[in-house]
Amino acid sequence: MQYRRLGSSGLQLSALSFGAWVTFGNQLGRSAARELIALAWDNGINFFDNAETYANGEAERVMGDVLADLRLPRDGWCVSSKVFFGSVEHPRPTQKGLSRKHVVDACHAALKRLRVDYLDLYYCHRPDPDTPIAETVLAMDGLIRQGKVLYWGTSEWSADQIRDAHAIARAHHLHAPTMEQPEYNLLHRERVEVEYADLYADLGMGTTIWSPLASGLLTGKYNQGVPQDSRLAQEGYSWLKQGVLGDAKSGRMNRARRFCAIAAELGVAPAPLAIAWCLRNPNVSCVLLGASRAAQLTQNLEALAIGAAVDEPTWERIEAATAA
Ligand code: NDP
Repeated sequence: MQYRRLGSSGLQLSALSFGAWVTFGNQLGRSAARELIALAWDNGINFFDNAETYANGEAERVMGDVLADLRLPRDGWCVSSKVFFGSVEHPRPTQKGLSRKHVVDACHAALKRLRVDYLDLYYCHRPDPDTPIAETVLAMDGLIRQGKVLYWGTSEWSADQIRDAHAIARAHHLHAPTMEQPEYNLLHRERVEVEYADLYADLGMGTTIWSPLASGLLTGKYNQGVPQDSRLAQEGYSWLKQGVLGDAKSGRMNRARRFCAIAAELGVAPAPLAIAWCLRNPNVSCVLLGASRAAQLTQNLEALAIGAAVDEPTWERIEAATAA
């Protein structure tokens, strides 16, 4: 495994880390989740990502039970939660968003579900237009001072919102956000590469990027339609299907097919090649992997070796083939 610093902080996360979205509590129960976390740990993964909203809290319960059951040393791994969407089906106003009340309540609930004394990383899962950023910065700073959170960050905030949070923190000697969790893959590059371009050096911002495989599209599994046992066939995820497969104008299917053709030419599986491409970006602190079975995770862990073997002209061809 390779370890990278989370921005300018001293925290070193595994370049390939592991998340629970869609899988834990939905597709997978405790025994399959246990197999995946044990496999991840045995391969050097030290960061497990979660959120209050994943399976309405069940993903955190599953992860917490598994981590406790495996008896892995608490100082050897990091776990996260995210606050914003709430953890119940129809949240009341105080059960969602980034008010001080919900940020604090959600932290306490996540600590219980994950069965830990502190969250290593705690994210604002989206910006909240109904809460002043200063209120959220103060709430996060308070949790850090109480030892309940070590590093806080954002997910899919605009560059301006992240700068605002830093300015408020600086002005009042509060803890500023350390990291952002944006989507980043061969089909979705703009925010990480263009919008955030100055933030890495200016603010020391790290990134823990999500959906490196565009929810599986870059594995080629959707090239001939949607397999029954795949994410996009899951009940309640039809909203995701449209975004992932896109329409004719987006060309996402064709871009993915062209990518898979190059992987076939190289004689490697598309999934680890797509993940290896994400790792090339030095502003990526870690790539969050998702997997619904052990064989996928094993294959995706080949990304580090595959990435080292691909030459520059080939990466250029891959980028040209997947460009919008
Ligand atoms: P990916 O884009 O890598 O998609 C993972 C899914 O792709 C798997 O669950 C599996 O789905 C399929 N897959 C993975 N590897 C293979 C393979 N080798 N061969 C075939 N199929 C494969 O990542 P995610 O979208 O899961 O995102 C990763 C993590 O990022 C999440 O778990 C979560 O922690 C975080 N995240 C954060 C978000 C945010 O807003 N902050 C949003 C989304 C994710 P299948 O069931 O079809 O087999």
